[in-house]
Amino acid sequence: MLGAIIGDIVGSVYEFNNYRHKDFAPLFSPSAFFTDDTVCTIAVADALTRSTDPASTMKYWCARYKHIGGWGNRFFDWIEADDSAPYGSYGNGAAMRISPVGLVAGSLEEVIDLSGRMTDITHNHPEGIRGAAATAAAIYWAKTGVPAREIRHLVSDVFGYDLSRTIDDIRPTYLFNETCMETVPEALTCALEATSYEDAIRNAISIGGDSDTIAAIAGGLAEALYGLPDDIALKGIRKLPREMQNVVMSLYRTAGCPIKVVDDYVEAENQIPTVFINYRDKLDPNEDA
Ligand SMILES: [Mg+2]
Repeated sequence: MLGAIIGDIVGSVYEFNNYRHKDFAPLFSPSAFFTDDTVCTIAVADALTRSTDPASTMKYWCARYKHIGGWGNRFFDWIEADDSAPYGSYGNGAAMRISPVGLVAGSLEEVIDLSGRMTDITHNHPEGIRGAAATAAAIYWAKTGVPAREIRHLVSDVFGYDLSRTIDDIRPTYLFNETCMETVPEALTCALEATSYEDAIRNAISIGGDSDTIAAIAGGLAEALYGLPDDIALKGIRKLPREMQNVVMSLYRTAGCPIKVVDDYVEAENQIPTVFINYRDKLDPNEDA
């Protein structure tokens, strides 16, 4: 989840100003900020941890941060509307917000069920449901130690996405696209082909397109595959308001991989806690060699 949020933050400055290389620096631009992808991810996590109604929880968080802008038109109308009927979207918003599901689910069945409940509220087109479920399932598999190459096969077999292309295949012709169908396979590939969390985010920026959302989807999976380095995690979480940080903490607690909270860690520049998240640290690193 924090991996997705950090992908969103890193990608925020490249969405409308693509940089199709991996060598951008610094990782966090001084002007990077969290966008709608983060707000929606927080809303999903909040609904999961407190078992609140997904639609009203989504509307609550999005209304609180409406001023950040960048919302999809139809999604914005949905936030504002009195009624909460879904609108058949297959936009990549379904996938960019779903990472918390992959972390809390205890089985593939639960992934599908929770992902559907979080997605149905707006993105109830079959392609929206598929994009979210495939993203959450990939995170679930990664969390449980399934190697990247195996996840590639599983996502293709279970969800029917073509993941046969490499980043170098995708990059030359990839165009800005806000559908699940042309965001999810590319974003998952950015993580599956990476060597580390940061490498996945660099892959995601390097293909261009809807950079914050691609990096959010890739980042959520990369976190579960490779772990999130402390320094990157800390820089990212410091970009969030305290009320969002609290939701992040709750989600990891619920997921059974709590972040060891040092209460004032956000302010304490020199105090980098040995906290963040490597789901796979109990596994033999050579196992999937
Ligand atoms: Mg965004």
